[in-house]
Amino acid sequence: MTAVGKTLIVGSGPAGLTAGIYAARAGLNPLLIEGGEPGGQLTQTPEIGNWPGAKDQPSGYELIDSLTGHAKALGVRFISGEVVSCSLQDKVKKLTLDNGTVLEALTVIIATGAQARYLNVKGEEQYKGAGVSACATCDGFFFKGKDVAVVGGGSAAFVEALYLTTICNKIYLVHRREGFRAEQVLIDRLQAKAAEGKAEFVLNATVDEVVGDGTKVTGLVLNVQGEKRSLQVDGVFAAVGHTPATGFLRDSGVILDESGYIVLKGGERESATSVAGVFAAGDCADKVYRQAITSAGTGCKAALDAEHYLLENS
Ligand code: NAP
Repeated sequence: MTAVGKTLIVGSGPAGLTAGIYAARAGLNPLLIEGGEPGGQLTQTPEIGNWPGAKDQPSGYELIDSLTGHAKALGVRFISGEVVSCSLQDKVKKLTLDNGTVLEALTVIIATGAQARYLNVKGEEQYKGAGVSACATCDGFFFKGKDVAVVGGGSAAFVEALYLTTICNKIYLVHRREGFRAEQVLIDRLQAKAAEGKAEFVLNATVDEVVGDGTKVTGLVLNVQGEKRSLQVDGVFAAVGHTPATGFLRDSGVILDESGYIVLKGGERESATSVAGVFAAGDCADKVYRQAITSAGTGCKAALDAEHYLLENS
């Protein structure tokens, strides 16, 4: 057991790192728990085109690396591990990590983000890692010169598809509707690739099954407006949204909504959760905006709110 600190931050994406930067500058000596995927979802994004001031479009990894370097330079302490359980209702909050370490602090900032969802169809589980993926930057290389499908109609699907057009022979963007949630600039770019024959849109289509030869993916069975269609592809990338990483909060007193997102208490201190001294930032509490920049902004708010709570309660 370590000494009781002022602030524990759970998560190392833009929300957690920004919270760390602000908390360190406020003298809270924060300890940041990195989680199973240090840097979070953003590290898997090949190119960030909308981080203000970063006109050279850094990769997600570069952006996270720069935020981490800034946090470390200010004295934020980092620890590896995943929080598996917690006790948050008392004045001293306790977090237990997967290696058994118990950490204690007066405030906790939860910035655990969200994890990629899969399609949940026949064959998908069998071929995970053998053609089924949720990360083009991680796995795209394995499909050099091949045909692949990306499923989804949000910005993530378009970013993944555009990245894959630089590696693969042809990309099929499979989406269950005709309209897209993605940013228009991304849609325009993929449409330009389609005009070059590098991409094809398969709309009003859902995936019924991932098929393979026993060792790897060979195609998809689609349902296109009630008609079955086979699509021959060597890989399929699911880009169908995310699930908040809040499982460890069940029974903690922190109120979650039906999808597992943290419900913020509302009021002047915007990052406050239903438990005093516990604050939330980033995608684990946001199902609307979910941008790197809004995550960072809420990380800032959470650190300021934790500082205010400590002043009021010391
Ligand atoms: P998203 O915007 O929620 O899009 C998820 C997509 O998956 C939707 O098109 C949805 O279809 C589809 N979908 C959901 N469940 C499905 C299922 N079971 N089967 C088939 N399709 C399914 O998620 P996202 O693309 O991961 O983006 C998350 C957030 O990050 C968004 O705010 C986005 O703007 C942001 N983001 C931004 C960038 C960028 O470069 N600006 C890049 C990545 C992500 P429906 O449309 O029919 O609901």
